[in-house]
Amino acid sequence: MIEIRDLHKHYDTTNGRIEVLRGIDLQVHSGSITAVVGPSGAGKSTLSHCISLLEKPSSGQIRIDGKDLSALSGKTLRAERRAIGTIFQNSALLRRLTVAENIALPLRNLGVVHHQMQDRVAELLERVGLADKANAYPGQLSGGQRQRVGIARALALRPRLLLSDESTSGLDPESTAQVLALLDSLRSDLGLAIILITHEMDVVRHIADNVAQLEHGRIAEHGAVRELIATTDSETGAKLLPLRPETLPDGFDYQLAVAYRQPHVDPTWLTRLAVEHNALVALLGGSVESHHEGTLGRVRLGVAGIEAHKAIALLDSWGLTATLSEHVKSTEPERIEITV
Ligand code: ADP
Repeated sequence: MIEIRDLHKHYDTTNGRIEVLRGIDLQVHSGSITAVVGPSGAGKSTLSHCISLLEKPSSGQIRIDGKDLSALSGKTLRAERRAIGTIFQNSALLRRLTVAENIALPLRNLGVVHHQMQDRVAELLERVGLADKANAYPGQLSGGQRQRVGIARALALRPRLLLSDESTSGLDPESTAQVLALLDSLRSDLGLAIILITHEMDVVRHIADNVAQLEHGRIAEHGAVRELIATTDSETGAKLLPLRPETLPDGFDYQLAVAYRQPHVDPTWLTRLAVEHNALVALLGGSVESHHEGTLGRVRLGVAGIEAHKAIALLDSWGLTATLSEHVKSTEPERIEITV
């Protein structure tokens, strides 16, 4: 498990001290993926550099399986830092070296003997699906393939934490999907803890278990992706799966914002609401997506023919959280939250 405790980072400049990270606490379990999101300038890169110990935190701890790496320096730090593999945005490969030589670099630096190095590189190439590209040069690969080489290199020293710093930024959708599928398999097959620093909410929805929203050097909101999406007033949830306001068409009594709370909701729930409960239901907007761990969704409904509190209770019993939208033609209170 990776534990970041009360992490602070400041820079002393000629214009005074700049506090960039102001007390970050984060836990990432083995076999799970946590995304760190946030606006530009929030401190994401600084956090990434502190976690990979490229920069020394001003105070606080970075603990990997109980050991505090931030307290180390010199040779011990270099040895323990192997527990962290980093994937960079532009894959940072050396252009004059072949794919195999790039992947071998961390092993070479460690003095691993030649035949062991070759075996390990072959294993890693297989792992990232590029066994046929061993002798290619980075310039001959697509962006997605280069990024997979970067992942292989990050895995060379068998890390326990994989830190991905904007690794899918700038990739086309197909390459992004390949990189995400690879990260997902590394999480489950190798039990790696993965931290994704990203500004891409699609990526977070598709792959992360948890998400931390960084703002002005602090974690403003943190939780399971599914729970935040199902919390209709969560700011991070709204960024993860935006739900635009919609106008209520004539003939409907009120509008509901509905979020999938449970991963496996009966897919016929809309029909059931209409047929079994004689409701008139209009789908006004929203999105529903299938993921490996179930469905994520937020939709807006126009409803008539059933009282709002009854519809909300029914939806709740089916694993959906419904909130009465503000612009309503109804005698119901403006917002009803069903908590579980
Ligand atoms: P993000 O990656 O979320 O865009 P950064 O971590 O790059 O944010 O930067 C956060 C803030 O820290 C910015 O205001 C930036 O100017 C400041 N900062 C980052 N590195 C330094 C540095 N070496 N010296 C002074 N200020 C820095």
